[in-house]
Amino acid sequence: MDKRTFIQTMSVLTGGVILSDLTGCNSSQKPTPMNGHLTNWAGNLTYSTDHVHYPTSVEQVQEVVKKCNKIRALGSRHSFNTIADSTENQLSLQQMNKVLSLDKTANTITVQSGTRYGDFAPYLDENGYALANLASLPHITVAGACATGTHGSGVDNGNLSTSVSAIEFVNAAGDVVALSKNKDGDKFYGAVVNLGAIGILSKVTLDIIPTFKMKQVVYLNMPMEELRNNFADLESKGYSVSLFTDWKNKNINEVWIKSRVVDDDNTTAAPELYGAKLATKNMHPIADQSAENVTDQMGIPGTWYERMPHFKMGFKPSAGKELQAEYFVPIENAYEAIMAVQKLNEKISPHLFITEIRTIKTDELWMSPCYRQTSVAIHFTWKQETDAVMSLLPLIEAQLSPFNAKPHWAKLFTMQPRILQSRYKRLSDFKQLVAEYDPSGKFKNEFLQKNIYS
Ligand SMILES: Cc1cc2nc3c(=O)[nH]c(=O)nc-3n(C[C@H](O)[C@H](O)[C@H](O)COP(=O)(O)OP(=O)(O)OC[C@H]3O[C@@H](n4cnc5c(N)ncnc54)[C@H](O)[C@@H]3O)c2cc1C
Repeated sequence: MDKRTFIQTMSVLTGGVILSDLTGCNSSQKPTPMNGHLTNWAGNLTYSTDHVHYPTSVEQVQEVVKKCNKIRALGSRHSFNTIADSTENQLSLQQMNKVLSLDKTANTITVQSGTRYGDFAPYLDENGYALANLASLPHITVAGACATGTHGSGVDNGNLSTSVSAIEFVNAAGDVVALSKNKDGDKFYGAVVNLGAIGILSKVTLDIIPTFKMKQVVYLNMPMEELRNNFADLESKGYSVSLFTDWKNKNINEVWIKSRVVDDDNTTAAPELYGAKLATKNMHPIADQSAENVTDQMGIPGTWYERMPHFKMGFKPSAGKELQAEYFVPIENAYEAIMAVQKLNEKISPHLFITEIRTIKTDELWMSPCYRQTSVAIHFTWKQETDAVMSLLPLIEAQLSPFNAKPHWAKLFTMQPRILQSRYKRLSDFKQLVAEYDPSGKFKNEFLQKNIYS
């Protein structure tokens, strides 16, 4: 697919809502999206309000924020839980989706906060630049991803928020606030993974690096036992490594290894890796699904944004009708934690599409699950069987409790707030930061009330 087709397809795939005009917060002026209340991407959640604002400029964001008593920002709605929900107002950044500047001296790109990674990756590449990492899909907004600590994989790669070098947001008073890594140091680290609590991000500046090429290969069927002594070695086999398992037969079904391609790269992949065999065709993470929507494998070199995500740009990612949950544990506990989940295999497998295991480098972001902890993330793509999944999560959380597991902020979890809160060392600092920008709780919703403040 060429770049123009890609961008057009992205717009079609994610632009399906009817836009309403910018209005005040008075209920008599309520704009009603044509399809009623919005749902999240997976369709497992219908938001609690149909009062959605669609500003096109930071001035309009300020105007709406000033008028509303309660409001939450909306990105591309890929979160699985109620983190973006509001019973009163939502403000979609869908129309604030432009690249604002590319700074070739500072090596940064500044985008409006509703811009999706896939929207500007080709532009960056054309200009000789790349992002250090991407999630499994390019369809998510920069602000939405960074608010929740969204990540890709790689022992030397921090989550996507670690690439943020400056933000601009509208606080509860309607004022525009700018924070940057260089100027605001520790406070900035509190504001990037912000759970949507400090205000509405209008601009995000990201660090960029010279463009590069990558290739990926897949190995099939590795005995899980191999992870006991070889986990670290396996994770260092590529720039980004993902392990997929359905938890059946103590087997890692697929090992995806994404490597940077250096000039004159003539290396070929070994036919075997810790008992796993090199795949001879493209594989979907869920082995029985068509590989049509996955990025090219088989060691074929391609540009960074066409190899780092698992799913091909312009195609629907993952399984579609699904649920997701994910837990972060210290990398030192990787094998024990995986084995602890393995004990539940008979309960998990019937409701699961696939589990993905990734690594994320330690960071300094207060509310990041990887704060001062290089982590392993154990992810579950579930069939959309909500009752069964919600009754399994407490069992998984109990198994991972000895490792102080933290759930992904944007995925499903059932962990008691008191336990969750005890696992965030900078939580009280974060609450102080939120109080500075939102003293009256304008951006506080039920999710935050329960998980952060209860
Ligand atoms: C198919 C699929 C694959 C996924 N793959 C990955 C993966 O590889 N790695 C991973 O870590 N996660 C993954 N996720 C989860 C996803 O990255 C997160 O849900 C992310 O937050 C989605 O971003 P969004 O733009 O959809 O934000 P939304 O879901 O719309 O919002 C998320 C949060 O961000 C806040 N927010 C959004 N915009 C702003 C703004 N402008 N200002 C302030 N706050 C804002 C919202 O209020 C909310 O709290 C996946 C999800 C799906 C559906």
